[in-house]
Amino acid sequence: MIETDILVAGGGIAGLSATARLGAAGFDVICVDPAPADQPGSDLRTTAFLQPAVETLERAGAWGAMADGAAALSTMRLVDAGGAERAPRETAGFEASELMDRPFGWNVPNIAARAALLDRLEELPNTRLIDRERVTSLVTRRTEALARLESGETVRAKLVLAADGRDSRLREKAGIRAHRWHYGQKALVFAVIMGRPHDGVSTEIHRTGGPLTFVPMPDRDGRPCASVVWMVPGARAGALAELDDRMLAAELELEAMGLFGRLEIAGARAVWPIIAQVAARLTGQRLALVAEAAHVVPPIGAQGLNMSLTDIECLAGLAEEARAAGLDVGGPDLLDTYHRRRHAEMLARVAGIDVLNRAAQAEAQLLRDLRRAGLRAIHEAAPIRHLAMKLGLGVRS
Ligand SMILES: Cc1cc2nc3c(=O)[nH]c(=O)nc-3n(C[C@H](O)[C@H](O)[C@H](O)COP(=O)(O)OP(=O)(O)OC[C@H]3O[C@@H](n4cnc5c(N)ncnc54)[C@H](O)[C@@H]3O)c2cc1C
Repeated sequence: MIETDILVAGGGIAGLSATARLGAAGFDVICVDPAPADQPGSDLRTTAFLQPAVETLERAGAWGAMADGAAALSTMRLVDAGGAERAPRETAGFEASELMDRPFGWNVPNIAARAALLDRLEELPNTRLIDRERVTSLVTRRTEALARLESGETVRAKLVLAADGRDSRLREKAGIRAHRWHYGQKALVFAVIMGRPHDGVSTEIHRTGGPLTFVPMPDRDGRPCASVVWMVPGARAGALAELDDRMLAAELELEAMGLFGRLEIAGARAVWPIIAQVAARLTGQRLALVAEAAHVVPPIGAQGLNMSLTDIECLAGLAEEARAAGLDVGGPDLLDTYHRRRHAEMLARVAGIDVLNRAAQAEAQLLRDLRRAGLRAIHEAAPIRHLAMKLGLGVRS
């Protein structure tokens, strides 16, 4: 029997971040994940970590190593190209400098983020990653949780975090329902070298079918680089993924309307299905759902993992308060507070992103014109613009 304060089931970026954050706060934490820790993995995505998430990663002691390979995001630019002609008809720039003296956030390759977090867990004496292993069952009692691993080993913990992803087995075992819906879209993900510098501007282009996003990355061989997330109807994603690099670059240049000059595909590509999902409850006895076990959103406005880090920060804060007050870190009071603080905000955010994605998908001209009017209204009035930026950054409760 392995004893610990907190068991984190799932060592994706969210689970590793939770382990590092709680470990840095002095809790004994065990993280379990089937993926081999000595292999880099194949996640080609990048994550735009917004400022509140960066603060959590700083507290976890993992940000320093991530910052080395990160690109600053100082402007979020939305381009509406939903007119009859394929051309920008409304461009709205949201500048971080209007709100603060730092960028909105930093874009980090997922492989680099994972490596930095794994290194941090090695440094922390009170954290342990058990890789090549999974949680197969969970029995909870009033005073403890007993998690059974595939190898037959048992972990006894005061609190279990389900960070085991969108198909969370722990969520299912706890009988917590999740509502999932589809958009008929897929996201094509790859890196590009651009003919023009990005100047720290992250650009989201809206025409129809879904947003096309260019997020700055550090220069490659002295040439400007960006990660592309191109959301399109499923069939088109399949067709685009089949193109050779030259043809894909040509399609992309057309879609980007020349905003970035000549484009060159840099490396492999991946296709991700787009869904949204939200759990009906965030807690069970001795159990808290975090990250994609709790919520999944389309990749718009860099919300997914940033919401997950808000979950983690909320739980870590509550665990620290409980410990300081001599209370149980997995007790019902802490779990109820976590559910109350996170669930309503999470539902609102998932609903907001759902609306944005449907607006980006819009085909009917009237809807595309409404979308343009909405963007203009949000951008033109400074108080509304600032509110939109603050909401995008994520309100921490
Ligand atoms: C194209 C795209 C772009 C994105 N860009 C951004 C962005 O810029 N900013 C942002 O904030 N978010 C972004 N997101 C969202 C973000 O990538 C995800 O939220 C995040 O990667 C999910 O991490 P996770 O740790 O919750 O889940 P996962 O990465 O799915 O991790 C779950 C882990 O649990 C493990 N596991 C499963 N079952 C068990 C078990 N029984 N026991 C133990 N372990 C188990 C799995 O092996 C896996 O490692 C993007 C998403 C997409 C699709």
